[in-house]
Parts: sequence; structure tokens; C-alpha cells
Amino acid sequence: MPFSTIIGHQRPIKWLQTAVKTNHLGHAYLFHGEAAIGKRQTAKALTQFLHCEHPHEDSLPDACGTCRSCHQVEEAIHPDCLIIEPEDAQKPNPKIKVDQIRAIEHLMIYRPLIGSHKVCVIDSAEAMTTEAANALLKTLEDPPDHCLFLLISSRPEHLLPTIRSRCIALRFSPLPLTDVYDFLMQHASMEPTDAKLVATFSEGRLGQALHLDPEELKVKLRQYWTLLFGEHLTSATQIFEISDSLVKSQQVPEAIQWFQQGLRDLLLLTLEESNAPMLYRDQEPALRQLAERITASAIIELSQELNQLERGQQRNLNMQIGLEQFFFHLHDQLEHASA
Ligand SMILES: [Zn+2]
Repeated sequence: MPFSTIIGHQRPIKWLQTAVKTNHLGHAYLFHGEAAIGKRQTAKALTQFLHCEHPHEDSLPDACGTCRSCHQVEEAIHPDCLIIEPEDAQKPNPKIKVDQIRAIEHLMIYRPLIGSHKVCVIDSAEAMTTEAANALLKTLEDPPDHCLFLLISSRPEHLLPTIRSRCIALRFSPLPLTDVYDFLMQHASMEPTDAKLVATFSEGRLGQALHLDPEELKVKLRQYWTLLFGEHLTSATQIFEISDSLVKSQQVPEAIQWFQQGLRDLLLLTLEESNAPMLYRDQEPALRQLAERITASAIIELSQELNQLERGQQRNLNMQIGLEQFFFHLHDQLEHASA
């Protein structure tokens, strides 16, 4: 997947191409930005370019994407390239362990066989254990000349500051929703309404968009709409029950994401920005009625409450109580304004 096939991210890509072209490529980079938006693809494209047997040397250099080296990078079997990522990715909270980082030493001892660099990609770098991070730090303090480290992280604040300071940080931003929509229409042959739904829910993360099933999204859209603004809001017992069942079925992270989207749509309507892409577009009449009963600042407060809840998950906060409070506050706001 050469640079030319990546959708968006022109700025970091151009930065890297220029660094290679002018011989200013650093030893370590940190690609950061939301999950599933193209950081790993860009790391692969750079690795391919550095090893490509027939690179394009146009105004902006790129890999051919078809030579043996390019294929080996694509399939993660290139002898000069090592990809490290958390083991047991299916488990909650998977980690990168110190043994995985020690494998870097074996990679780095010899000079590269084909291209100019030995490349080590560390995906989800924030998942390194303290021991692993300290081992990496030692290597980063004195990296051999032919080595390039590409750290990828959607939560760079969880990396050791001493590691961050040794990397050149490149920020990756979500794509405009229209770009995701166009891509889905052209390459995933979706119906326009489905592509719109998927693009909106992807929040500009193309990798995420490609994994979403529009039919599944439609079912969830109805389900979470009812959970957010349904009749249960007027009954404490039902609020307790719904919060309990969301926690027990481990749906809290997903619920928070859908609730945030619902509040966002509501906010757009209170601000009279109804042309912006809305996830709950088919609920617009009901949303309009709700929008008349709540202020923009109250919606923002509720959304911040969800943010806190989201962060609280990592600190083992009591999710049930948090959700109950959120529903009660939402109810209060809607009642308060209509009273
Ligand atoms: Zn090639």
C-alpha cells in the first residue's frame, strides 16, 4: 500500500516524503491520532518506500507497491522490518511485553539487506509494560544509524514522556466525512443512505468505516435511540434496570459512543445547524421537539459527563452509578426546561 493509495493525511505523508528526499529522516517518529484512521498504513507505506526495488522518484517519492520487497512489507515478512503489537489482542487490556521489545536488538545488529533502513513499527505503543517501555527507551537513547522506529498510538499521553521526547511527533487527523462517504460509495459499493450512516458513525476514521456493517448499525441506531430518549427516563426503577443491564452486558463503551452521537445531533439542532451530518437523521422530528426543551449548555454538560464516564472506565469507576446519574441529569434537564 504505497503513499499514493492512502486516503487523506496529506500533511504527515508529505512531511515524511520530503524528509526522505532531503535525507533528513529522523530515527524515531510517533504517529498519533484517533484509532483506525491510517497511521499503520502510513508506517507501512514509508517502510515500503525505504525498501522498494523500483521506487518512483517523481516530485514526491513513493514505493512501486508491486516488487518483491513491497509485497514482503505488505505481508509483514520483510527481513529488515519488524512489527510489534500487543499480544492477545482479543483479551481486555492486551500488553506489549519486554520480550517483544528485546527482539528489536536482533533486528538491529546487522545492516539492512535491501533498503537503507531497518524499520521497527510499534503499533499501540501505549500498551507497552513499564519494563518494555524502559527497554525501548535504552534503544532510543542511542539508536544505530540505520534504524528507524515508528511508534503508533491513539493514546500518546500514556507513553513515557522520555519516550515521547525522543520521537518526532506527527499528528493524524480524522478525514472529512465526505471523503469517507465518497470512498464507501466508490470502493465498497454501498447504498447512499448506508454510506452516509457508516461515514457519520465512523467519525472520519476510514479503517473503522470499512469494518462497520450498515444493517447492524441501523438496528443499534434504533436500540440506542430508545435507550437514550425513551420512556424509561421518567421512571427511576427503569433507569436502574437499564443501567444495570448495560453494565452486565458490557455494552457501556458502545452505549457511551451512541449517546454522545445522540447528544451531538441534539446540539446541532439547538444551534440550528441542521444541515450538518446527523447520525439520528431519521429521528429528526423527535429530536426537534427535544431540542426545544433543552439548552445547548445543558447538552454540553451532559456530553462532558459521558466523557468523564468514558475516562472512568479505565480507572474502574462504578459505571452503573455513573450511568444512572447521567440518565437522571438528562431527565432533569428535559423536565426543567419544559416546566
Ligand atoms: Zn516496490
